[in-house]
Amino acid sequence: MSKSKLEYIWLDGYKPTQSLRSKTKIVDDFSGKLEDAPMWSFDGSSTEQAPGGASDCLLKPVAVYPDPARADGWLVMTEVLTSDEKPHPSNGRAMIDDPDDDFWFGFEQEYFLWDTETDKPLGFPANGYPAPQGPYYCSVGAKNAFGREIVDEHLDLCLEAGLNVEGINAEVAAGQWEFQIFAKGAASAGDQIWVARYLLERTAEKYGVSINWHCKPLGELDWNGSGMHANFSNTLTRTAKSKATIEKVCEAFRPVVKEHIAVYGADNDKRLTGKHETASIHDFSYGVSDRGASIRIPVYTVSHGWSGYLEDRRPNSAADPYKVAARIIKTVKPVKA
Ligand code: ADP
Ligand code: MN
Ligand code: MN
Ligand code: MN
Repeated sequence: MSKSKLEYIWLDGYKPTQSLRSKTKIVDDFSGKLEDAPMWSFDGSSTEQAPGGASDCLLKPVAVYPDPARADGWLVMTEVLTSDEKPHPSNGRAMIDDPDDDFWFGFEQEYFLWDTETDKPLGFPANGYPAPQGPYYCSVGAKNAFGREIVDEHLDLCLEAGLNVEGINAEVAAGQWEFQIFAKGAASAGDQIWVARYLLERTAEKYGVSINWHCKPLGELDWNGSGMHANFSNTLTRTAKSKATIEKVCEAFRPVVKEHIAVYGADNDKRLTGKHETASIHDFSYGVSDRGASIRIPVYTVSHGWSGYLEDRRPNSAADPYKVAARIIKTVKPVKA
């Protein structure tokens, strides 16, 4: 008999930004199958998810991945239910209305590796600033690339866990990086982003480095913020063969700017300034290959005869991918050719 270590991962109830929580459950000879991962519970009064007098919240497993860093370890992504087995208000996954997984999502997760001693990005001197932005994007060499050891270890863990990472790159600011994850199905894309975030936090922890998910951690200085561009498609956009249809999908976003911004991550007004490859939070625009637009129509979509995907550039690095996907689906699903 072997003692399997199941790491149950969930999102707490903190506002406006939820954090990852996890705890280990020991199970005899776990099969690795989702249906064999039992429901579990936790003290919701410690995570702002329940009052102390009725503190139990439930953890319902939704996806299981092998945990490459632990012998007989498993990563169990869960969603939070109230004690009467209803989706908890903090549960963004339950808001996704796409039972047939028609929506595909590719999220580009940006983040900063953060030095806990200087309280600045890796690569920043304790006093002052490094050379201005320019050499850091997709850089190589100790002068410009900071923390590759962590980033590479994280990538290997993600791949060994079976997450569909499509690539990584050093980003525009010093100490800033990105990974991309794609899935056919919004819930799965969300699960995989959250598990990848979990693995990143845990990997960096070993090095005494933290992850800064804030969308504008260097404030108003001339340094890029962090986004989580949401690339999405459904049968309509993938088979549109029509500029008018693709533009109709873009136009569907115009009347619901507020509703989208509400779930696109905290403090986004500090990031969506119209500078640093962003559109102003007050505007709505779209355009082919336009990295200054709210929604970019990738050249792929145009060159495939106006069929393919769109990129909403507004979601930020700290947004909940479940809520972002749920909102995009709500806007796009009713659009017909
Ligand atoms: P960029 O940095 O130029 O914006 P990336 O290569 O970082 O682009 O990310 C593009 C993302 O688009 C990838 O995550 C990819 O999976 C995603 N993508 C490609 N095709 C589709 C599609 N049909 N539906 C949804 N997402 C897609
Ligand atoms: Mn990218
Ligand atoms: Mn990027
Ligand atoms: Mn992008």
